Parts: sequence; C-alpha cells; structure tokens
Amino acid sequence: MSVVSNRTQMLASIKGLYLTMKLTPITRLKILLSSLLAVSLAGITAHSAVQAGKRVLRAGACAIDITPQIFPVSSNGGMSDRKAQKAHDPLHARCLVLDNGVTKIAIVVNDSCMIPRDIFDRAKEKASQATGIPAKSMLMSATHTHTAVTVTGVFQSEPEEEYRRFLVDRIAWAVTEADSRLEPARVGWAVGNNPHQVFNRRWFMRSGFEYIDPFDAGTDKVRMNPPSGSSRLLKPAGPTDSEVPVLAVQAADGRPLALLANYSLHYVGGVPENMLSADYFGEFARQITRLLGAEDAEPAFVGIMSNGTSGDINNVNFFEAGVRRDPLKQIRLVASDVAESAYQAYKRIEYQDWVPLAAHEAEIELGVRLPSKEDIQRAKKILDAAGAGPYRKRRQIYARETVLLAKYPKKVPVRLQAIRIGGLGIVSSPCETFVETGLAIKQQSPLQPTFVIELANGYNGYLPTSRQHQLGGYETWRARSSYLAVDAEAKVRTTLLQLLGRAVIGDE
Ligand SMILES: [Zn+2]
Repeated sequence: MSVVSNRTQMLASIKGLYLTMKLTPITRLKILLSSLLAVSLAGITAHSAVQAGKRVLRAGACAIDITPQIFPVSSNGGMSDRKAQKAHDPLHARCLVLDNGVTKIAIVVNDSCMIPRDIFDRAKEKASQATGIPAKSMLMSATHTHTAVTVTGVFQSEPEEEYRRFLVDRIAWAVTEADSRLEPARVGWAVGNNPHQVFNRRWFMRSGFEYIDPFDAGTDKVRMNPPSGSSRLLKPAGPTDSEVPVLAVQAADGRPLALLANYSLHYVGGVPENMLSADYFGEFARQITRLLGAEDAEPAFVGIMSNGTSGDINNVNFFEAGVRRDPLKQIRLVASDVAESAYQAYKRIEYQDWVPLAAHEAEIELGVRLPSKEDIQRAKKILDAAGAGPYRKRRQIYARETVLLAKYPKKVPVRLQAIRIGGLGIVSSPCETFVETGLAIKQQSPLQPTFVIELANGYNGYLPTSRQHQLGGYETWRARSSYLAVDAEAKVRTTLLQLLGRAVIGDE
C-alpha cells in the first residue's frame, strides 16, 4: 500500500480541481483547506489502519445470466420493433462489489440497450435490503447492445413487462451474489489505447448535399452514418476517444477476480434479425478471460466492458469505401482487438492493498424539448394520413414520437453519480452521451484517470452538446430517444465534475 503516493496523487488531483473549476477565491480557499485536512486525515487513518492490520479491502464479482426464458421477445435498438426467437449468445448482469471496511460500492453492467430508472431503482432497493450497500453507492448501467430485450418504450418497441420484473430480480441477485463472494483483494488501474475501432459517425457533407430530416425543418448541417468512402464526405463533426481504461481486481493470493473496462463505442451490431446477443461487450468478457488465463478461476473470473461516451461514435470506418463486414466475425474482431488493448494496460497495473472508496450522487432537473402546438398538429395530420402503424417512414415514426412526447413533463429528474476508487474516478450518465462530454470530463476531473459509464442509473435519451444541437442530425431529432433541453449537457457535465470534487475531498 503506497500511502505516500496516494496522498501525492490526491494532492495533485485537488490542485487540478482547484485550478479547473470556476470558483470564487473564497470557495477555492475553503475547498483547498478542507481538502488538505481530509488528505492528511485519510493518509494518517489509512496508514495506521494498515499498520494495525485492520483495514482490509475486499472484493467479490459475478455474472448472472439475464437471457430471457421465454421467446419470442421484443428487441429494441432500431426504429422498427424486432422479434427475437432465440439468443445467439447469453446476456449477463456483471457485478463487482468493493468494500474497504468503511465504504462499500457495487457496479453492475447489464447486457441491455437501455434500462429505465424504475428498474434500476427497484433493483437497488432489493439489493440494498439484502446487502446493506446504500442505493447511492450502486452504479448500474446498460451496455447498449442493440440486440437485447426491450425494457423501455423507444420508437416502435414496447417494453416486455414480464422481462422487466425478471431483470429487476436478476440485477439485485447479481449484487447479493457478488457481495456474498467478498474476499481480501487488491485493486489497480491503467489506461489502454485503441484508436482502430472508433469512428465519429456524424459528418459534414460537401456543399450541395441535401440533408433530410423527419420534421421537414431543413436545418441539419451534419449527416449521421453517411455512406462509407462517399465522395460527398467532407469531415467528421466531432472527435473520438480511443482510451481503454481498465480497473483490475485480484484476490490476495494473486488470482484474477474481475476486470472492468470502458470504451467509447456505441456497439458493433449485425447480429441476425431474429437473435439476441450481448454484442462485442459479451465477447470482450470471454476474450479478456482468455488473455488473463482465468478460464478456470474459482470463483469464476468476471470480465466487464462498460460503455463510455459513444452517442456519436460507431464501428464503421467512413474513410474507406464499403468494406463488407461479416457481422458476427466483426464482433469477435472488435472484441479481441479491444481486449488486447485492455490486456496491454492490465500488464502495467500496480496493485494497492487498500484504497479509499467514495460514492456521491446528485439529482438535478433537466428541461424537456416539448413539441409546440403546431408540431403536434403537423404530427397528427401525418399520422391520420398514414393510418395505423407500424410505420416505416421516418416522417411517420417521428410524428408518432411527437404525439407521445407531448405527454412528457416540462422537466425530468436525472440522477448523476461519481465514484472514487483510490485515485480512479468513475462517473455515470443516464444518456447516450457524446464523446466531447467524456473527453471534457476526463480532462477536467480532479481524479486522474476518470472515465464515464453511460446509460447508467436510468435512461434519458441522447445528450448532444449545445454545439452538436446547432448542427442537428439524427441524434438531435426530437423523440423519446432525444428529448432533453439544449442546455442539458452543460448541466450534466458541470454536476459530474462537482461530484468528482466531492469524491476527492474525502471518503465517508
Ligand atoms: Zn444507440
């Protein structure tokens, strides 16, 4: 346990926070003084505890199968509903619980496209009753595989009620099971790099290109998923994030217990229409297990890939003309490539026997881009002319979304969370978050490294930055998949940075 290096890290982090956040001089001074005190106390307590042999870090992990037991099931992820007849590969809730004797946290990453807040809240409540882990110290997310079971109404897919109840139970079970496996452990982290599998999917097109939007507004300035290699392509409308942060956990005897990775890639896709799949997220878990030689670990090693900030990122290389991909092969290719990058980072990890843990949560209200009276009138006209659904045309699909969105409240509550594991920061966003947001948080976080797990603790659609809202395009088109106000991104980002600041100041 390197108390000294921990304290140095914390001091450097606080300095970062102090310099980057927009605070008044008095607030800065207050934060600095209380932080210095907290650092000294944390250092002294940790040091004496380790000397007294009292503070032990414990970890437990598990993967619980969440593949539906009844078929066919609705599968969302597109504008039309799909009915899956079977699973190509199993879906899982993958959970890691850490307990440093003071604070306990749980992270559960689920093979689902998006999971609404009521499911997570119910699962947290159940798991909390069973384990004593406070709900606010649990981070639960969806991987965003586009071939899982519909648990929230988006476009023309409606939730499978029976599966929703099943999912609540299984997520809660994942936490209780991981908690029951707690054993003395060590943790460490490192950041890998893989620029080969991520591409910004929003493009500026050459002048003369006709952008088409489902509202006939004619205001779009970018096109989502344009044809690869087209001569009409000008340049991507945003960056990518190639980082592959890795948190590794091993037992006191060196056995690998779990590895939580994060990558800003929407998904890979291409699984046959009638099948469910955990996409590359599930395959990553298998590949990293193999790379670590942990296939026979007892209890079973748990590899976890969480989604970063990938609202505008996908796995299509637009710079090269139409290379045809064998979909299932592509999933394996991406998974093994990213697993290799995670493994390279893993090899550099320095483990710590004990680390401070902290989890902080905030609930903020975000505005909703409600349709106007004229918008609703136009939508109803389109639907009247189209008759009963399901709809195939975008104008009709978005007209239906407009009518459904008209019933939304003016503001929605959104839960945000920051977790600190020693010098590592993890924050949650309940949205399909844009890569710029992730990059900004990573850069400005007082904890280095920090990463974002998106589609966590709820589902509130896309979160374009205000600049990306100006550019328009699919991710900004108003629907139940994109309805937050233009200023939502700034509020989410600022709140997450504030929560990271609180997480640095002290564990509870
Ligand atoms: Zn998506």
